Amino acid sequence: MGGGLTPTVVDMDTIVSLCKRRGFIFQSSEIYGGIQGVFDYGPLGVELKNNLKKLWWRHNVYERDDMEGLDASILMNRRVWKYSGHEDTFVDPMVDCKLCKGRFRADKLGESQCLLHSKLHPGECEGELTEPRAFNMMFRTQVGPVADDESFAYLRPETAQGIFVNFKNVLDSTNRKLPFGIAQIGKAFRNEITPRNFIFRVREFEQMEIEYFCRPEEAEGAFDAWVKDHVDFWVNEVGLDREKLRLYEVPESDRAHYSKRTIDIFYQYPIGWEELEGIANRTDYDLGSHSRQQDSLGVQAQVIPNEHTTEKLTYFDHTTNKHVVPFVVEPSAGVDRGVLAALCEAYDEETLENGEKRVVLRLKPALSPIKVAVLPLKKNTPEIVAMAKSIKNELQKGGQMRAVYDDTAAIGKLYRRQDEVGTPFCVTVDFQSLEDQTVTVRDRDSMQQARLHINELKAALQDRLDS
Ligand code: ATP
Repeated sequence: MGGGLTPTVVDMDTIVSLCKRRGFIFQSSEIYGGIQGVFDYGPLGVELKNNLKKLWWRHNVYERDDMEGLDASILMNRRVWKYSGHEDTFVDPMVDCKLCKGRFRADKLGESQCLLHSKLHPGECEGELTEPRAFNMMFRTQVGPVADDESFAYLRPETAQGIFVNFKNVLDSTNRKLPFGIAQIGKAFRNEITPRNFIFRVREFEQMEIEYFCRPEEAEGAFDAWVKDHVDFWVNEVGLDREKLRLYEVPESDRAHYSKRTIDIFYQYPIGWEELEGIANRTDYDLGSHSRQQDSLGVQAQVIPNEHTTEKLTYFDHTTNKHVVPFVVEPSAGVDRGVLAALCEAYDEETLENGEKRVVLRLKPALSPIKVAVLPLKKNTPEIVAMAKSIKNELQKGGQMRAVYDDTAAIGKLYRRQDEVGTPFCVTVDFQSLEDQTVTVRDRDSMQQARLHINELKAALQDRLDS
């Protein structure tokens, strides 16, 4: 279902150039020529990304009764990845071109370019491709000063395993009853064969994952509920157009080794319909694999006998007086793919009545990096400048609202700059402000202006941001 160019409002180059120009996203180590598939978030990007993570955490942890949070480490005992199945099966099919010597992901040739002919995909030129072979995507690193076969660890390729191996710790420390879930946001690393399309497919990224533990018979219902809930999250909280989201039932042949069922939420990116989030029924595969004596626990999935772990990752059901290995439903979304979707969705170009063009990022205010910009009408009038700076300081107090002060251009240009980065409100201080303590509040989307007394400004802005 992925790939294939679909006509969309904005193209990727426009987004990439806006991100660089306005300080959202930069290529990593750019001054040394960069490093493929790795990006840095700049002053505005870090705010946008943090705001998305905050929204997700609020929606999935604070606004529910059945969730806990966790922040597990990136480095883990190597055996985690042996028993999770990743050492053997976390692979992508790779092909080599015998002519240009490029290496490509065999199932994503449409995303790759021939190294000799940039307009062609691998296999479309005269170069012959090898048969696909398995390439394990986990990065290895050495732990401790001695380098031998036992001293290495992997950079985690998903955050999920940190949740599974802490299942007992969370259960024992919180006394949770099934069903309940654990949420985590954190970095994941995959040595993608062909990182591409800006921050869409990268080698270092962040995931927002939930492992939702339930009785086996509850898993199907929980699965459907999470799919619906998360489509609603992307629409209602992040502001994505429902028409640009699609559900894709992943066929068995394409599912991960642990999954009994997977539905991907696809978003219509400028590069076509691509995965934003995956929701999987991981059954009892992971808790079973990380448990000792799993044979006697009635584990249903095919798991490797595990003689290394010290734990049984089970739940004691007081109603049946039996230990069960819970089933797990996992909604797993990429933060970076969420940021990219939010940017593409919000980007708008508008021709004004006077014929001028304005670029406006119609981000949901909760996502906007800057909530309010305070601008002096005249930067050469010290009283106006002083008043504008003092209003900015007042607004930012308490840390609820990211406010900035800017006097580096004429007012019209300052408005455009804020429109382009999605700032919902601009406050302008002028001569009248000095007389009657009122300021102009300009709304990003409608460009309507209203005068407010400075005493009511903060509450009024907060109100509008909250709604
Ligand atoms: P794809 O098929 O696009 O490679 P996947 O099915 O391997 O993705 P999952 O393992 O389900 O991805 O990971 C969960 C989520 O993590 C994805 O929906 C995506 O948002 C994000 N993600 C996975 N790989 C990457 C990557 N290389 N770069 C950015 N985000 C990623």
